[in-house]
Amino acid sequence: MKNSQTSTPSDFIRTIINKDLASGRHKKIIVRFPPEPNGFLHIGHAKSSTLNFGLASEYGGRCHLRFDDTNPETEDQSYVDAIKNDLRWLGFDWGEHEYYASDYFETLYEWACILINKGLAYVDDSHENVIRLTRGTVTTPGVHSRFRDRSPEENFELFQAMREGEFADGACVLRAKIDMAHPNMKMRDPLMYRIRHTTHYRHGDQWCIYPFYDWAHGQSDAIESVTHSICTLEFSTNRILYDWYLDALDINPRPRQYEFARLNLDYNITSKRQLIALVQEHVVDGWSDPRMPTLAGLRRRGIRSKAIRSFCQSVGTTRVDSTHDPVLLDHFIREDLNHLAPRIHCVQDPLPVTLTNWPENHVEKLTASYWPHEIPKEGTRELPISRELLIERKDFSETPSKGFRRLTPNGIVRLRQGYIIRCTSVEKDGQGHIIRLLCEYIDGTLSGENTSSLKPQGTIHWVDAIHSLPVIVRVYDRLLSDTSIDEDLWTSLNPISLVEHRHARIEPSVADDLSDQRYQFVRLGYYWRDPESMDQSSTPIFNCIVPLRDSSHKSTSDHSNEIKQTPKKIESSTPQRTLTTLEKQWLQRSGLPRSTGLAIYAVDGAIEFFQAAASSAPRVSVSNWMANHLLPALNERKLSDLPFGPYQFAELIQLADNEVGTAHEIRMVLKLMFDSNVPPAQLLSDLQDSMIDDPEIIKPLISDVLNEFSDRVTAYANGKVGLIGFFVGQVIKRVDGNVNPKQIQELVSEELARITS
Ligand code: ATP
Ligand code: MG
Repeated sequence: MKNSQTSTPSDFIRTIINKDLASGRHKKIIVRFPPEPNGFLHIGHAKSSTLNFGLASEYGGRCHLRFDDTNPETEDQSYVDAIKNDLRWLGFDWGEHEYYASDYFETLYEWACILINKGLAYVDDSHENVIRLTRGTVTTPGVHSRFRDRSPEENFELFQAMREGEFADGACVLRAKIDMAHPNMKMRDPLMYRIRHTTHYRHGDQWCIYPFYDWAHGQSDAIESVTHSICTLEFSTNRILYDWYLDALDINPRPRQYEFARLNLDYNITSKRQLIALVQEHVVDGWSDPRMPTLAGLRRRGIRSKAIRSFCQSVGTTRVDSTHDPVLLDHFIREDLNHLAPRIHCVQDPLPVTLTNWPENHVEKLTASYWPHEIPKEGTRELPISRELLIERKDFSETPSKGFRRLTPNGIVRLRQGYIIRCTSVEKDGQGHIIRLLCEYIDGTLSGENTSSLKPQGTIHWVDAIHSLPVIVRVYDRLLSDTSIDEDLWTSLNPISLVEHRHARIEPSVADDLSDQRYQFVRLGYYWRDPESMDQSSTPIFNCIVPLRDSSHKSTSDHSNEIKQTPKKIESSTPQRTLTTLEKQWLQRSGLPRSTGLAIYAVDGAIEFFQAAASSAPRVSVSNWMANHLLPALNERKLSDLPFGPYQFAELIQLADNEVGTAHEIRMVLKLMFDSNVPPAQLLSDLQDSMIDDPEIIKPLISDVLNEFSDRVTAYANGKVGLIGFFVGQVIKRVDGNVNPKQIQELVSEELARITS
């Protein structure tokens, strides 16, 4: 384990705590994690809980789990249970310190009465719109309510009547009496209580007045003797009110509020409201859908809590809002699984191979190691091989592009952990689709034997056709098509966030494994059995936890490098940051917009790369494609290690600018360029050739999908237009391959328009 992971870097909160302990202000620190039980926890909550529980254990203090349950309409016991389950899974222990803000309602009520007696709170009968409109603006003071000068006695009676249910919802509120001209709007007689005749999941109908956040939160902290109340930056303007209430109540010693930046993850949603919408609209398979950034979703995908904690620690605690690239999380997931996941074979998209010189009915049991040599672990399994095999369809090419290092007609490759084979002929169906390869195995070429006279073009994975087991493999992509939500959640969803390989085959050794075993499917990624679903035919379903970064370019043991060069956080250059002189000079010199310019500035060699590329393609396009696509895709690689240089990149940009390919195709070509030195134009034309774009093939699939989900078609007709993304995703799943999502979306729209008109 590397130090960079286990030791927690210092930050402004730790600096404050160190000072408080040194000065004797506190002897022991008490913090809290305060979720509202109105949804499941997500990766942002992981950040906050890692921080709070982490501080408690580091300083020998304690962290309370406090449910902030003051809104009866949206809260539920099932969320309480899910939150506790997720926190335990993350490895946190709050012992006996499990609290509920709703259990403090009596104390809060008494304290509100103290403020009333001091003339610091009043019952206001104004309509909520009046209250809102009389609050004033940042530049103009608010107007006093005509109920503001009620006597403490009258207020006390009214407040008691509120509690006793004598008024309807919304009839009146309790407000703090502070300053209607205060420059901070939060101080303009903020609301403390409202009336809600709603059953609370924990206290039933005991209460019909409910405290607002600002009144409940600080006082709950005080009741629990919290020393450091850590929340996210959007509460900075509430701090003055937090302090005012504690002062008004004379609470001593008192908690203090500190704010840090929320954690946001590109291509993901960390808004509970939006996550709830996805669940309620059945766009995902519940809170634990493996595409969801919820802890339940990440867990079901197969990620272990350790990876999440490492990620949260690595992003640190700052006061600058930042958005992180999910490649950083992926890095920690791989790091966690590398030494844990035995290597096995699974073929996702099988192409049959017959070894024509292999004796009929002969089965050989190879002994294959579970681990590559750089991992100091032992263990083998039996790998049967016979005359009929399956390889990955894309590991064969009849017309290989330059740099294709897999099987080709007459070419030879090594079967991983097995023999070297030569392809002697190709069988096709009536439409010219390849249905089988005829190959010969070469005797005496098992791994470990001297094969120096042979030069295989590469090593591919495979399974035996007869002994392998059928499995369904699900590969997940990002939830959103773009780094963040555009205008509308529904149109921002990535239509191909799930690809299902229904005909995958896995080696038979897995049959005896425990169901929670994680594997590396060689050359593909890390996988495990989905713990929640079983196909109707009881075929096991495997989830892709994370794909391999790029197995051909880096040895798996080479992790020392990765830690130092954790993926850049390109998006983290927010406008608040002051620029260095060099950065300013570069922006001025290049004339690039700030975020694009800084993205380029931040990467080694990117300025030179940009300048060279921009000498043969339009500057604006080059800079945009670099900042938005090329640089974020680098992950741990360096520009100088790529198989293409600035001039090939410029060629690609020209293909995009001249609309030779769609943006989607260009992005796919860019991806391919990372692994080959074939010219972009060639890659693009190959891609376009292999693309399924014939409407006559696609349209019947669309009809199938719309028939199968006719209830959603009705929902769509009733205004849930965002469902289009769902339909497109379903169609793409059925073609299982290379299509243009935009074209599919157009065809789906046409068909929907036709049937709903
Ligand atoms: P809501 O809008 O429903 O209040 P919330 O995201 O604030 O949503 P809470 O359950 O109130 O959800 O959050 C519990 C704690 O987690 C709070 O202290 C909150 O500040 C923190 N938190 C929530 N989202 C993030 C995030 N993205 N990054 C860091 N901390 C977060
Ligand atoms: Mg909140």
